[in-house]
Amino acid sequence: MRLDLKEILRKDGTIPFSCTTDLSDLHFSAISRFLSPVSASGRVTAGAGVLTLTGTVSAQAICLCDRCGREFTREFRIPLDLPLAEDPQDAEDPDLYPIEEDGVDLDEIVSTAFVLGLETKLLCKPDCRGLCDRCGKNLNDGPCGCPAETDPRLAVLGQLLEQE
Ligand SMILES: [Zn+2]
Ligand SMILES: [Zn+2]
Repeated sequence: MRLDLKEILRKDGTIPFSCTTDLSDLHFSAISRFLSPVSASGRVTAGAGVLTLTGTVSAQAICLCDRCGREFTREFRIPLDLPLAEDPQDAEDPDLYPIEEDGVDLDEIVSTAFVLGLETKLLCKPDCRGLCDRCGKNLNDGPCGCPAETDPRLAVLGQLLEQE
């Protein structure tokens, strides 16, 4: 969705926005699928010659735990706080998002914020116990019965056997 900012260019004011953006075409290794379109709401405020877009990107998705590989549902809330470049001569400034034809592309802003705000590794819970590296059991379901400490000589032997 395009947000027209003509009303507040070169004068003070606020324009609210809300939109939904379909990110299902983007590939995220940590996300299996989105449960709903990604939504965003907020406002663009102009004051003292500065335009700032603020708000929140919200999404709900089925994610894959980086440690145990299990699927889990997670809510995302990613804050938006983006200074906009009102003057075309500021458009080269990497800290400012350019205003083009008196508006901005909300879909692009939302997808960029989501990509940058997403942690590269997601865990099903902060203390996920992961998988046993010997038997592969998901240790969140309880201990697997492997001995806690392996004799270092046996560990070397085990590695040699694994390589074969
Ligand atoms: Zn996990
Ligand atoms: Zn085990």
